[in-house]
Amino acid sequence: MALPDECKAFEPYFLLSDQKLRDIVKRFRIEFEEGLEHYGKDMAMVPSFVTGVPDGTEEGTFLALDLGGTNLRVCEVKLFGQNKFEIKQQKYRISDELKQGQARVLFDYIADSVDAFLTDIGSEMSNSHEPLHLGFTFSFPVEQTAIDAGKVLTWTKGFSAKGAIGNDVVRLLQDALDKKHIHVRVSALVNDTVGTLLSRSYQNGPALIGAIFGTGTNGAYIDKTRTIKKLGEARIADAEKGGSMRDFWVRRHVLPISIFDNKLDRESINPRKQMFEKMVSGMYLGEITRNILLHMIDSSLLFSGYSSPILNTHYGYDTAFVSKIEGAKDAAEARQAIIKDLQMDAAHVTDRDVEIVRWAIRIVSERACYLAACAVAAVVQHTGNDKVPEGKEDTGVDVGCDGSVAEFLPNFEPRVRKALKVLLGEEGEKRVRMGLAKDGSGVGAALCALQAKKAMDKKA
Ligand code: BGC
Ligand code: MG
Repeated sequence: MALPDECKAFEPYFLLSDQKLRDIVKRFRIEFEEGLEHYGKDMAMVPSFVTGVPDGTEEGTFLALDLGGTNLRVCEVKLFGQNKFEIKQQKYRISDELKQGQARVLFDYIADSVDAFLTDIGSEMSNSHEPLHLGFTFSFPVEQTAIDAGKVLTWTKGFSAKGAIGNDVVRLLQDALDKKHIHVRVSALVNDTVGTLLSRSYQNGPALIGAIFGTGTNGAYIDKTRTIKKLGEARIADAEKGGSMRDFWVRRHVLPISIFDNKLDRESINPRKQMFEKMVSGMYLGEITRNILLHMIDSSLLFSGYSSPILNTHYGYDTAFVSKIEGAKDAAEARQAIIKDLQMDAAHVTDRDVEIVRWAIRIVSERACYLAACAVAAVVQHTGNDKVPEGKEDTGVDVGCDGSVAEFLPNFEPRVRKALKVLLGEEGEKRVRMGLAKDGSGVGAALCALQAKKAMDKKA
């Protein structure tokens, strides 16, 4: 059964040629350089002020707070050394009202959640006279100025709380905690990608990249401080005592933007921003698919022109459905999922309809994976890790990943690897190790808090 011609017309935006992949990586690398040299670039290249990766021997008990995906999490992390840790955690729901209301109210809620956690779970910690050290994983664009300070640049992923942009997010949290006399000190501000990099290194040995392919998309990697020209000579010299890392995200041109992506972007809370993220992340894959399906319905090429309440709702089609249909073992199973998850009347679902839905999901998923590979390949090349260092043992390149897309999208890693082969060559691809580093936001934040506490103790 052939797909309608209409489908073919969209494929160039989704089924990326080898040359297109190479062009994207090339552009990525140019933007890395720009972001390292100047502030305010689309590829922000934010220094993390973390000066080294852990080696697995670290010990201590720390609090971690994770804001940036679907839930707020408060964790107590015990680091035992020998690459081992234990985590106790509690999730707190963040309603849309909190996400989109006043920042002060949001941070009061966060402080209350920390309080509730300490009362319920972490009580043995709160008996001490010392303040508890907390690593704050805040996974939004921040211009970080110190390990424990950074200004919010913009919101992403459906957040838009007023009164946060331009303010120091550590201050916002510390003030909310102090006001309630909660004996906690926010000692480190961490992006989830940096947390993932640290947590992966703690558990598996030194990693080069920490990547999130989840609700949003981003990466952190290790580079020489000297390359961050925008810091200026004095601060470079100061920071050069250790390595440094930063996170990145990409702008639009060169990306294969279809009419479905433009529609999504226009209707998002941050139009014309984070376009790369909008083509790769869990928050958006369902929505791109929904846009494609609606177009096919409106062209009377799908479901005999019938839609459903789910399909008619903005963000109504969850990325989890994408994973489910992508993972269906045959057409019959996909058909069942379509009827159930899309709430389609079975009478309107023909075999050809099933084929069209599976096609849409396949092209959206494949593009997401290939673009993810472009980001990884660009970092590998940028840092010179695409070659075995001369005279040194080849230890390969380690990438720690976290996030719902990396974890649940069927065929994520094989597809990423397919594109890595194109971009780095057969040998290059083989040298890249990818592994889930779950809970980077918790363990990584704790490791960061530990590093910050050590630096503080040294000064005192
Ligand atoms: C944020 C990043 C974050 C990423 C993954 C993006 O929306 O801007 O800071 O690392 O999501 O959570
Ligand atoms: Mg997260």
